[in-house]
Amino acid sequence: MVSVSSPSGADTDTRGPARELWPADFVYDGLGRPRKDAAVLVQTRPEPARVVTIGLLETLRTQHPGVPVRPTRRVIAPAPVNAHTHLDLSRMPLSPGGYVDFVGAVIAHGRAGGRGLEAAEKGLAELASAGVDTVGDIVTDERVLARLLAHPGLRGVAYWEVLGADPDAADAAFEATVDVVRRFRPLERPGGMRLGLSPHTPHTVSAPLLRKLAAFARAERLPLQIHVAEDAGELPLHRTGDGPLREAWGPFLTTFRPSGRTPVGYLDELGVLAARPTLVHAVHVVDDDIRRLQRAGCVVVHCARSNALLGSGTFPWAAYARHGVSVALGTDSRGSSPSLSPVDEWRAAVAIHGVAADPAQLLWAAVKGGHRALGTPPPRVVRGSPADALMPWPLGAPWPPGPTGADAGSVDDVRSGPN
Ligand SMILES: [Zn+2]
Repeated sequence: MVSVSSPSGADTDTRGPARELWPADFVYDGLGRPRKDAAVLVQTRPEPARVVTIGLLETLRTQHPGVPVRPTRRVIAPAPVNAHTHLDLSRMPLSPGGYVDFVGAVIAHGRAGGRGLEAAEKGLAELASAGVDTVGDIVTDERVLARLLAHPGLRGVAYWEVLGADPDAADAAFEATVDVVRRFRPLERPGGMRLGLSPHTPHTVSAPLLRKLAAFARAERLPLQIHVAEDAGELPLHRTGDGPLREAWGPFLTTFRPSGRTPVGYLDELGVLAARPTLVHAVHVVDDDIRRLQRAGCVVVHCARSNALLGSGTFPWAAYARHGVSVALGTDSRGSSPSLSPVDEWRAAVAIHGVAADPAQLLWAAVKGGHRALGTPPPRVVRGSPADALMPWPLGAPWPPGPTGADAGSVDDVRSGPN
């Protein structure tokens, strides 16, 4: 947990017990649903400050007259989780545009030497400054994998990425993956990062390799994370073998055979959903896909800013909520996201989805959904918990981003108006 000092500032009077009310538009204790127009009653003295109770602001104000009320924050909650990123792309320039062009930019950036440990260190520093200690990261470099598994302040999952579209090369790709797991799994430490696998997408990993990876993950209890249904072009590719992805990547997709299903239906048919992967993006889905995800108990990771910047389409919040599928938030890489902060992601998601998604539901996704996606213990703030288990979230960067794509630097933790 990130240690956050009392938002009230120092109180130098040490004569006796003291209490404060910390109000916020949304307060979340990690239990149940986030509460709107709520407050935390905090015993600030004797130190350390501790939570007394959480409730509606007006109720607590009535029950505790005379207790000082601090300025209203937008959110008071446990630290949010970044459930999907690519830290080794943290030196990539923001590259808005279509999916095909973006994948080309990622490949060019890698060939130019932009990925690797140095870039991952930059991303780690950005996560730390955003108050994030729980992350799901896609890893392509063994040095980064070693660094994450040994990191003393991080938890979550380091997903080793697997690519391999040629079915004839599935055995070799699988054996190479098993070798990585055998060598790096001993580096896992209690309470630290776990090792996982990330078959890249259902169109860049062959069917036999997907089957083998899913069976291996189940047997070894390895977490999985897969990009799926990010771009509208994935639907025609899987259904008929045609469409813009075939046109753009024909030479690469010569061995790809359409299943006639949706990408999610295809993963289910191969037995991949039975390994309960977290699915990243999952924008272009039909109701039957969502029912399959619900039955399998899969968590979906939503990357609102990346979807907006790459023109990926609108994530169907309402449909996932209707079917009871858990959703987490992730930023994706700096190539398609202006920052690695899940607070910024939450603020942008609130703006992007408007009335289609309840901000409290998005807040649940940023905290509890993230822990559910990564299998990390969720926070539970109760009476007597240290007050710094709750974090007054910064406002976050405005959405849409400025012309440079950079953070606007709006990090005030006191709400000054609607955001
Ligand atoms: Zn990604």
